[in-house]
Amino acid sequence: MRSFPIDRDHLVATLADLIRIDSVNPSLVPGAAGEAAIAEYLAGRLKALGLAVKTLEATPGRPSVVGTVQGSGGGRSLMLNAHMDTVGVEAMVEPFAPTVSDGKMHGRGAYDMKGSLAACLAVVKALADARVSLRGDLVLAAVADEEYASIGTAEVARQVPVNAAIVTEPTELDLCIAHKGFVWLEVETMGRAAHGSRFFEGIDANMRMGRFLGRLDRLEQDLRARSPHPLLGPPSLHAPLLRGGTELSTYAASSRLGIERRTVPGETSTDVQGEIEVLIEQTRAVDPSFKAVVRCLLARNAFEVSPEAAIVKVVRDAAMRHSHRTPSLIGKPFWMDSALLADAGVETVIIGPIGGGAHTAEEWVDLQSLEDLAVILANAAVTYCE
Ligand SMILES: [Zn+2]
Repeated sequence: MRSFPIDRDHLVATLADLIRIDSVNPSLVPGAAGEAAIAEYLAGRLKALGLAVKTLEATPGRPSVVGTVQGSGGGRSLMLNAHMDTVGVEAMVEPFAPTVSDGKMHGRGAYDMKGSLAACLAVVKALADARVSLRGDLVLAAVADEEYASIGTAEVARQVPVNAAIVTEPTELDLCIAHKGFVWLEVETMGRAAHGSRFFEGIDANMRMGRFLGRLDRLEQDLRARSPHPLLGPPSLHAPLLRGGTELSTYAASSRLGIERRTVPGETSTDVQGEIEVLIEQTRAVDPSFKAVVRCLLARNAFEVSPEAAIVKVVRDAAMRHSHRTPSLIGKPFWMDSALLADAGVETVIIGPIGGGAHTAEEWVDLQSLEDLAVILANAAVTYCE
């Protein structure tokens, strides 16, 4: 087994450069910078390292950068995936001024996930420095918009076929092999508008929503009592949005409820919507004049990969060899781009650095863990693509 020394100074300097470039997601914060500048920086760096670089930009102003180390042929192809966008910086004093103290770099995106981008660049540099030639392609995908609608990875998954992918979201160097999905639903109950005094005409949509909510509350308790996924626990739901009626003196003609349902692997959006339809039917069975519909607004599948999958074993072995510790196989409760890659038929696993403060005012990443990550990724790439 060869080892690939990582140029730590280069990695740290790259991360500092990336933090200095504002790449706040404009879908989260209207008017924010977006990915154009950071994509240009990364494209330049990847070209300088000898990669074939293309920019995917189906949505104008929202580019993703794909750099490929072309293999000699006959090997498996692997994608390293990291997002370039960050959440907003409102509560931060100097979000784009990276500082290092105590082996940690601070700044917006340090942990989520410019540190991983810098580690991926360090991998490509280490392999180039060591003049390694692989049979399969090694692809670095720096993607847009993970923090909002994942248009970057969606486009990359359509345009760049690979055998396997490593999403480098933070995992404290453990191996994430599952995460939950979610389905956003809207239920609307229909009433009849009437002057507030005309009880014999009006049908109150809000009161009808109350009946539905009673049943939804029981479904919520039922979900949490279901046998839990070993890494992710039980599915769940909540009702974060409720809006109905127009004014105090008028019967509410319509009431709308937003439901977020968190799913475990194996549950589909059709299943989830079906459960809600059953509740509507049950309410209607008691009162045939009850009228309601359910619509699916957005569905993102849960993700799971077998611990026996080739990419999982390769990354696990690489981590064990480097740190003499078996990384834990973990699940994460929140959704990541990994599900889009898996849905496209790409065998995917998640591993990333140690840090804290994602989406808060005090974000930091542990620099040693980035160096460790780069070593693990480099060795995994060589084994997988050789
Ligand atoms: Zn992230």
